[in-house]
Amino acid sequence: MALVTGGARGLGVEVCRQLARARMTVWLTARDEERAAAAVAEMAGEGDVRAARLDIDDAEDIATLAERTPKLDVLVNNAAIDYDTDQHALTADLDRVRRDLDTNLFGAWRMAQAFAPHLRASGHGRLVNVSSGAGSITDMQSGRTPAYSTAKLALNGLTRMLAAELRGEGVLVNSVCPGWTATDMGGGGRPVAEGARSIVWACLLDDHGPSGGFFRDGREIAW
Ligand code: NAP
Repeated sequence: MALVTGGARGLGVEVCRQLARARMTVWLTARDEERAAAAVAEMAGEGDVRAARLDIDDAEDIATLAERTPKLDVLVNNAAIDYDTDQHALTADLDRVRRDLDTNLFGAWRMAQAFAPHLRASGHGRLVNVSSGAGSITDMQSGRTPAYSTAKLALNGLTRMLAAELRGEGVLVNSVCPGWTATDMGGGGRPVAEGARSIVWACLLDDHGPSGGFFRDGREIAW
């Protein structure tokens, strides 16, 4: 059983499709229940995909879904907002930075806290934080996308800490960059199926797979 946040469009919907084709039961979640249901309907025949409403900014929403979900093997923290290419660090609107952090960092963090018991109980849990090369500390010399990059940098730190805490409990935790991908956020780039494959790789790792790493297309990349 897998759960994908931000599952109704972009990389999220394609991750759901690929996981379903890999014979996983998938919870496709989205802020808008009708859009989640419509995305599931479009996937008819691809496997067992179920729709649920989930806003990762809303702790109550997360708690309700965690209670409703009896078990979980794979959690994909995919949802994110505001790739702020129009901002620079020195002049950034800090309220916007805070909003970015609330979804892109704390949203994933809330999800990890709520679903860690499920992943532990699985015995083969996989937690995938969808990050970005824009959050790589070795690649932060332009001062651009300050909100998004800071959030993804911190998300990578969270990946390291969660991996350490869950070591020995069968849960593998990794950050994955899908590469520049042609979604609404990417605005260009490689086909969505390719970007999604980069993410799905970390969902389907076997028990000897890595934990606490940062990957693109199954290869380690610089933090
Ligand atoms: P996208 O097309 O903009 O989709 C973002 C998704 O996140 C949407 O489904 C959106 O739902 C959802 N979302 C936003 N806030 C949410 C919230 N509070 N609760 C639940 N869902 C929420 O972006 P994408 O390109 O598919 O990006 C997916 C992931 O890949 C992100 O983590 C992004 O940072 C990462 N990434 C993308 C690229 C790229 O080139 N595309 C490159 C590197 C990393 P709504 O439909 O309700 O808005």
